Amino acid sequence: MSDLHVYLIAPNGLKFKQPLGLFIDNEWRSSSRGMGIPTINPANEEEICTVHAADTKDVDMAVEAARRAFNGEWRTLDTSVRGELLYKLAGLIEQHADVLATIDAWDNGKTYHAARNEDVVGAISLLRYYAGWSDKIHGKVIDPNADKLAYVMREPIGVCGAIIPWNFPLVNMVTKVAPALAAGNTLIVKAAEQTPLSALYFANLVKEAGIPAGVVNVLNGTGREVGSAIAAHADIDMITFTGSTPTGKQIMKNAASTLKRVTLETGGKSPMLVFPDADLEQAVRWGHRGIMSNQGQVCSATSRIFVHADIYEDFVNQFKAEVERISKVGDPFHSDTFQGPQVTRDQFDRVLSYMETGKREGARLVCGGKAFKNVRGKGFYVAPTVFADVTDSMAIVQDEVFGPFVVIAPFHEESEAIKRANSTVFGLGASVFTKDISRALRVSKRIQSGTIWINSSNDDDVRVPFGGYKQSGFGREMGEEGIEAFTITKSVHINLNARL
Ligand code: NAD
Repeated sequence: MSDLHVYLIAPNGLKFKQPLGLFIDNEWRSSSRGMGIPTINPANEEEICTVHAADTKDVDMAVEAARRAFNGEWRTLDTSVRGELLYKLAGLIEQHADVLATIDAWDNGKTYHAARNEDVVGAISLLRYYAGWSDKIHGKVIDPNADKLAYVMREPIGVCGAIIPWNFPLVNMVTKVAPALAAGNTLIVKAAEQTPLSALYFANLVKEAGIPAGVVNVLNGTGREVGSAIAAHADIDMITFTGSTPTGKQIMKNAASTLKRVTLETGGKSPMLVFPDADLEQAVRWGHRGIMSNQGQVCSATSRIFVHADIYEDFVNQFKAEVERISKVGDPFHSDTFQGPQVTRDQFDRVLSYMETGKREGARLVCGGKAFKNVRGKGFYVAPTVFADVTDSMAIVQDEVFGPFVVIAPFHEESEAIKRANSTVFGLGASVFTKDISRALRVSKRIQSGTIWINSSNDDDVRVPFGGYKQSGFGREMGEEGIEAFTITKSVHINLNARL
């Protein structure tokens, strides 16, 4: 392959120049072996374009560029100038917001409305938030006794490998890039092979913002080859990963050979508990958005709902009505679409297979349970699916399905609800619906989860740290913790007497 760019016309008529190559040292390059990865529009199964696919030689080249940049002017730049560059990048994303939203809607199948108003807006807020942190990373002074003073600095870690999933291609990448750069690191970004296009478009904006060569390098490539090479690379200091739990475990194994730092944001099967005093209508609305948004492809989606027996049937009936009212399945570019296609045929097949598992396991199918047929007969569309009367041993209650697929079960006692909420290997998010503040706080204390939402679900905020308990990963993104994750402390002891 040699073409490094292509002019595309998106389904919404927007024309733009799409980069296809590997972005190394602020230049577009062909892949060493001339390999390509086609990227598919999940709404009609047609190829959008083919991007260059990196191999291990390209990874080496990108790491060399990132190391040079880290040891060069980036390391010594005034911290407020780093912040200004991130503000500039945020401004450029704002200018190119329609194109970036179009790319993610086209490549991923998410609705244009969500891509424009949530993903792109989220990416801009992240950049502005972390731009503000750039010159506020302070160490501390420790004053142990008259003879001694010590200070602790927070330094950048070095060259970071950021491995990105396909469910939020732009905003997941920016969640890593913004704090990493604000803290003074350099990066190799590996885009997900299913959705590489917005990361490549973003790379051009990085250069336009004036971020020096080698600070951000963007590679496409498979997880098996390029992802593994990044995880194992001897000259990468840290891996920041979002994706599945099995891949997170594999990355830890590969990273162990060099003891590099790892942060993992992996899977979930987040519970929502609805107590009898809850505002039922609000619980239904939040519960629906908490699982059905983004085609259910959200790591912290509240995919298990436990409802007190007194209000259980009402909840199930109202939830079904909400799905029928809101979950309009269709073309991601239509303004009234709530749910687009699943991202790939693999994910489509996976969701369908769990629908069959649910039926086999004897859960009550409330709605969905099949592919969604549109007029063209093309695209990876599934019907939003609700199973009720599930038991905790069922695979549909334990496994992360990653689709518009929710399970609902009744409970009788608070302690039972807490026990069941904690009864998976995951611990990413949990939602508690009640008007009783003591109960809300008591339950929140006992749920093993990195985030608790009281009377909401998936209500994330750039200022608030996010991450997992148990097999949902470790390390935190967003908030102050999100930038600390990209720093390493150095302690300096000063002998004030200069004598032993
Ligand atoms: P995945 O974990 O395989 O892929 C995520 C990223 O990791 C991609 O960039 C991929 O290329 C890379 N990768 C894959 N294997 C790798 C390896 N051995 N070393 C380094 N990098 C590697 O996820 P998937 O297969 O695309 O999706 C499967 C399941 O993962 C989904 O059904 C869902 O359960 C889960 N998932 C979770 C999230 C999340 O936000 N937590 C995001 C995407 C997928």
